Amino acid sequence: MVARDTEAGAMSPAAARAALEWLLECGADEAIGETPVDRTGLPDRAPGAPAASSAPAAPREAPARTGAPAPKAVPAPARPAPGGALEAAVAAAERAAAGAADLAALRGALESYEHCELRRGARSLVFGDGTPGAPLMILGEAPGREEDSEGRPFAGPAGRLLDRMLAAIGRDRADPDPARAVYLADVLPWRPPGNRAPTADEMAMLAPFARRHVALAAPRVVVPMGNAALAALTGRTGIARLRGTRLEAEGRTALPTFNPSYLLRSPERKREAWADLQAIRDLLAAEE
Ligand code: URA
Repeated sequence: MVARDTEAGAMSPAAARAALEWLLECGADEAIGETPVDRTGLPDRAPGAPAASSAPAAPREAPARTGAPAPKAVPAPARPAPGGALEAAVAAAERAAAGAADLAALRGALESYEHCELRRGARSLVFGDGTPGAPLMILGEAPGREEDSEGRPFAGPAGRLLDRMLAAIGRDRADPDPARAVYLADVLPWRPPGNRAPTADEMAMLAPFARRHVALAAPRVVVPMGNAALAALTGRTGIARLRGTRLEAEGRTALPTFNPSYLLRSPERKREAWADLQAIRDLLAAEE
């Protein structure tokens, strides 16, 4: 596992430290050889598995049973009944989102969007953090307590884990340099009471804003973290099945992975998250 961050492919001390910290986080607490092995150059097979053949890959199987609890289930956006209040609310969201020409206008459109009740129970509108226009965008689910009080996404424990994950691939939300920058947002800009999962109606009203957010932030790679972000951007759910799969969202490459809140509850899935992070790093490097 190598976090490359220089043109020559060498690893800076800071990147090496960040990768090591993330490996420790994943549970790798022992060095088993004297000499480092670049496993990225080895055939991709488990010990004892048959050697890879040139036959086309089989369809992706359901994820291995890890004993971990399933990721939070989030409904796909509701399909509003014709003529109902939800249909009007979704149409208003689509109009407002489409009419926003830049991120400041999108924020203004959310501030004046009156149809979603969540806004009334929240302290802040949590819009974005990091560097707008960065090549990498993370889309999460919703603000929690800390995010609501600080007014920025990923401010709590899950955000601190996310920062360590990003550091392991050489990204830092505080660094505006495009080679390291990242932009972060959530599908829901208001905290749901008690951190409950978004409802299908909330998803239907807020997904148009999330999609426009991605279009205006214009990252090269967007990473939907968890089922809510995956559903808002692609209409699909099943993060455990679709994580690590290259998808398309708003004309951008999307590579979904687990939400760090889920990884805090199910640390045994950090190994899969690490594989996704490496794929994200490689996509960014390839598309530079
Ligand atoms: N914090 C956020 O802002 N979003 C998430 O999805 C999880 C934690």
